Amino acid sequence: MTSARQPAATDPAPGPGDNAARLQAILETAVEGIITIDERGIIESVNPAAEKIFGYSAAEMTGRNVGMLMPAPDAERHDDYIRNYLRTGRAKIIGIGREVTGRRKDGTHFPMDLSVSEVRLAHGRMFTGFIRDITERKAAEARLAELARSLEEKNKELETIVYVASHDLRSPLVNIQGFSQELSRVCARLRQHLAQPAPSPEARAEVARLLAEDIPESIDFILAGARKIDSLLAGFLRFSRLGRAAIRIENLDMNALVADIVRAMEFQIQRAGARVTVENLPPCRADLTLTSQVFANVLDNAIKYLDPGRPGLIHVSGVVEADQAVFQVADNGIGIAPEHQPRVFEIFHRLNPSVAPGEGLGLTIAQRILERQGGRIWLTSEPGRGSTFFVSLPGLASTPKRVRS
Ligand code: ADP
Repeated sequence: MTSARQPAATDPAPGPGDNAARLQAILETAVEGIITIDERGIIESVNPAAEKIFGYSAAEMTGRNVGMLMPAPDAERHDDYIRNYLRTGRAKIIGIGREVTGRRKDGTHFPMDLSVSEVRLAHGRMFTGFIRDITERKAAEARLAELARSLEEKNKELETIVYVASHDLRSPLVNIQGFSQELSRVCARLRQHLAQPAPSPEARAEVARLLAEDIPESIDFILAGARKIDSLLAGFLRFSRLGRAAIRIENLDMNALVADIVRAMEFQIQRAGARVTVENLPPCRADLTLTSQVFANVLDNAIKYLDPGRPGLIHVSGVVEADQAVFQVADNGIGIAPEHQPRVFEIFHRLNPSVAPGEGLGLTIAQRILERQGGRIWLTSEPGRGSTFFVSLPGLASTPKRVRS
């Protein structure tokens, strides 16, 4: 380690050349980019850090207007900024500093912290700009904001789960409590009868009824409640595992994916007497297993909630919209009333439990899967006429295009 040497009494006083050398050394070694411009915005000097930040050599910058280091429209307006400042003395950056966008030699833009100080010289003024490239800081801030957003989402999801847990787990629990009390009442009654030395025929009849009807009935309700709780807890587990499952994004041939699902559902389709037609579908970028799960669920619903009063028709189609592939699964089933439409995505929410078996979890899971992959699910529906579920996923255009060699 070296330490700064204190000037000794015998050292000669630093001359003007010495000062200039020191200043030069500071400029050369500064981490911040330092650029000086004159009153017309012409670059006078540039330090090595500024060369590195902007990708121009000092020779390429000096003598040119500082606008070359800014994107439009700042570049065109910069001369006005300076003129305005010189006229009014009102500063926007000078002496204040702020975050602006810089433009590198290769044309790319980047965020930078810029502070400008003004130096009054005998022959005019000079402005010194101190520049720090804050690309990494901004990226870290963006990551943090994204993290905060996803935490907020997770929090909302947890709130929903707690809410649903308290409601949906409560009703089977209430049943279990009620029928357990009923069982203890029956036991007390049986004990009373057994304590009698010679039970009357009525007492015997009641014992027989309690054993044949009341006890089995209470046990049935208790078991059904336990099964319901078990399936709700299994559902929670399936849902929570989704957030941790690894995803592998690849180009998906949606024609093959939907054809496989329809083939696997052939039995259900025939039993429902339905007809499924599939148009040519655009490819997308997503995880194969998870996306298959989404389409299997939406198609399964389309079949389950058909109207038995008319032949079922299900049509699958897809289009490319900007950088997204948007798929539609349209059915002519029972439909969903407008007020219930947003609720179909709520965990365990079922509109017509008597129509078909299910857990009320499929669409919640589909929504979660799509969110994780940069997609979305939504629907339009008319009660009595049918529903269309829309699924959007990143299209192939959302990835950088490969250059053909
Ligand atoms: P599940 O089908 O197991 O009940 P989902 O989460 O897949 O659970 O669907 C939630 C609810 O949305 C279903 O119970 C049903 O009431 C309604 N639903 C879903 N798809 C359709 C459809 N295509 N037509 C009519 N109702 C539907």
